[in-house]
Amino acid sequence: MYESKAVSNYLARNGYDSFRIKAALIDMDGVLYDSMKGHSAAWFRMAKELGIECTRDEFYAYEGMTGAATINILFNRAYGRDATADECKELYAKKAKYFAEMGEPAKMPGAGDMLCQLKNAGITCVLVTGSGQHSILDRLDRDYPGIFLPENRVTALNVTHGKPDPEPYLKGLEFAGCLANEAIVIENAPLGVKAGHAAGCFTVAVTTGPIPEADMTANGADIIYNSMPQFAKQLPELLKAAATTTK
Ligand code: MG
Repeated sequence: MYESKAVSNYLARNGYDSFRIKAALIDMDGVLYDSMKGHSAAWFRMAKELGIECTRDEFYAYEGMTGAATINILFNRAYGRDATADECKELYAKKAKYFAEMGEPAKMPGAGDMLCQLKNAGITCVLVTGSGQHSILDRLDRDYPGIFLPENRVTALNVTHGKPDPEPYLKGLEFAGCLANEAIVIENAPLGVKAGHAAGCFTVAVTTGPIPEADMTANGADIIYNSMPQFAKQLPELLKAAATTTK
């Protein structure tokens, strides 16, 4: 019921006649890995060292932005200016080092189940991440073998504009050879939801961190689940709704 209502709202809102899921465009941090706690702790440590006032939770809201964009938010708050290219490079390297020092983040519970179901349903899985950190990208083959083919990965290296720009998800559609109404986006961050929605895709928001549901709705989420295991459990309903719901 929840799923079919969300699908019919999506069709009406976008003026689509049909919705056939051929591809799933899947974010990485906070969806496939329980890595956002580590990212926010690393950003917090870097900013505190500079004496810049911030909270750990605010970094969840910036998820999906480029590193430089996050650094510029901090710099404008503290110094009233953007960081230089050299400052960005140095500070992002420092943040990445602090993140790496915390060890490998755990796989997100429920993510493996979700990926198996998608694969069994013949749906192409495409990774769409703003990350360019090789340490975690290299883990995908080990943790989720056979799911993300090398040609089906959109990373920081493939796009000019990061989320919330739709470019990463438009690139994902291009890699999958799909139209917007033939794919679902799976996201945990408001800016990622905004990007998926702007690309015209049915956008699933999973609140795996402290972000309130209202922020997901405000950014265009078509449906919201409160954990990855809950989403994995409801996925058959969503697939059924997509196959049967008409405008
Ligand atoms: Mg994410």
